[in-house]
Amino acid sequence: MSAPGPARTVWNDEKVLRRFAPFAAAMITLGFATVPLSNAEPRLEPLIAAGVLALLLFCSVPFVPWARLPRWVALLVPFGGLLIIALLRHADYGAASGFGILVLMPVLWLALYGTRAELIALLVAIALMFVVPILVFGSPDYPPTEWRRAILFVALSGFVGLLTQGLVATVRARAREAEERARLERRREAYMRAVMDSAAEGIAALDTDGLATFVNPSGAEMLGYSVDDLVGRPMHATIHHSHPDGSPYPVEDCPVHASLEHGSESRRSDEVFWRQDGSSFPVEYRSKPIESGEEIVGAVMTFSDISERLEVQRAKDEFVSLVSHELRTPLTSIRGSLGLMEGGVLGELPDEVLRMLGIAISNTDRLVRLINDTLDAERIESGKTAMERRECELGELMKQTGDLLAANAREAGVQLEIEPLATTIYADPDRIIQTLVNLVGNAIKFSPDGAPVTVSGEADDGLVRVTVRDRGPGIPPDQRERIFDRFSQLDSSDTRQQPGSGLGLAIARGIVEQHGGRIWVESKPGDGSTFAFEIPRSGGEAS
Ligand code: ADP
Repeated sequence: MSAPGPARTVWNDEKVLRRFAPFAAAMITLGFATVPLSNAEPRLEPLIAAGVLALLLFCSVPFVPWARLPRWVALLVPFGGLLIIALLRHADYGAASGFGILVLMPVLWLALYGTRAELIALLVAIALMFVVPILVFGSPDYPPTEWRRAILFVALSGFVGLLTQGLVATVRARAREAEERARLERRREAYMRAVMDSAAEGIAALDTDGLATFVNPSGAEMLGYSVDDLVGRPMHATIHHSHPDGSPYPVEDCPVHASLEHGSESRRSDEVFWRQDGSSFPVEYRSKPIESGEEIVGAVMTFSDISERLEVQRAKDEFVSLVSHELRTPLTSIRGSLGLMEGGVLGELPDEVLRMLGIAISNTDRLVRLINDTLDAERIESGKTAMERRECELGELMKQTGDLLAANAREAGVQLEIEPLATTIYADPDRIIQTLVNLVGNAIKFSPDGAPVTVSGEADDGLVRVTVRDRGPGIPPDQRERIFDRFSQLDSSDTRQQPGSGLGLAIARGIVEQHGGRIWVESKPGDGSTFAFEIPRSGGEAS
């Protein structure tokens, strides 16, 4: 056991000394008051004891500057106390006096507020207090049997003192740890609060009943409430009660509710939140469960108003589709004229001119494809193109895709392996082929020479899944979502070298989502990519 470390600070604490002095004084006065009763003759010792006691009591008065006095001055309290006890004991019945037991008082005091060395010094003083009278006065007041008592008292004092000191040190260390933990906790809380308060995004925390336990100022402002107004309210019923068209949004369907019930995480950007004044705004929000061990103790929701973003997107889409439309008409006639020239309408053309015409035609075709893709992507993503669903054989569509891309694969030196899945789906066959062509076309484009590209399918009860696996450069984790956005391509130099518009995957995603499915990619950089999509057999139509 180590000596109590912070004794010095406790020592210097005037309050501690003052708290003790009246206590010690009361105990000793009690004993002192009994002395005249037990001895017929007045004695000198009680008077000296009274003097020392007065001194100690003086120590407890507020104006003694303990903090500035040297430490040994404070030791006057326990050692002075011991002296008083010795005097009272001698004035009473010597060895037979009951005052001896009072030595535990200064022992306890030093056990609480002193160091190990000081406590041991006090034990030595106690030994002297018992031994000196035997040697100096002897029998009858201090008979030889008194030696036993001396040993007993020193042992008892040592035991009580050291044990108490050890316990006190442990308790103090625990208290300090708890205080430190509480301080760190307060600091972390202040830090988190500052971060959340200054976030531009709305942040709300919900308890398991869906009641708001925290809302940051940006969030409250977005919703037209004050923070205090929102805290304690059921969030779904307050801000998420209806769909954009005004129809009721049952809480059981809400992703935040799912986070609370099943611990799922979700992200939505096609819903609205409702303000206090009854108006709504388009919102993007994420919900995540708050877990404590295995238990879900709430959910956190982050949200932002995306009105501006949607407006910019809409203006951009409109502009792109307008420009594309305007470009398509003149391009079609340019392509027609070039085709006629190449076909020899203007007579035999020199080889050099034919070569130039070939370049012009292939580039015009590329431009037409780009424009068609741009328009397609815009129409499909905005839902303007209806899917023409009918019963079709998925295996057939996979084979047709293989036929369409066989020449590309040969040219690129890629082995195209199609494993058709014979199953019937209810979908738009042309659009499914378009999706497959985009995925398989990319896989061929990004595969190294001689590498295989495998297209396979799987079906379970209500879903069919098609997987396109390649051995290309792969896709870094942070880009796996982004590549499905329009006009987005990977930054790495080797994929940039491939021609492309960055529209193929956006179109594929649009088609798959219109069929009520989802599309994703799994990839280990350097070990190729696996693109997969999954659609309900019913093609997303309620059957
Ligand atoms: P692009 O016409 O540019 O191929 P996509 O939308 O089809 O447009 O693809 C977007 C980007 O995703 C590509 O430019 C490429 O960087 C990356 N990508 C798509 N498929 C693959 C693949 N199989 N392997 C590696 N990168 C791919």
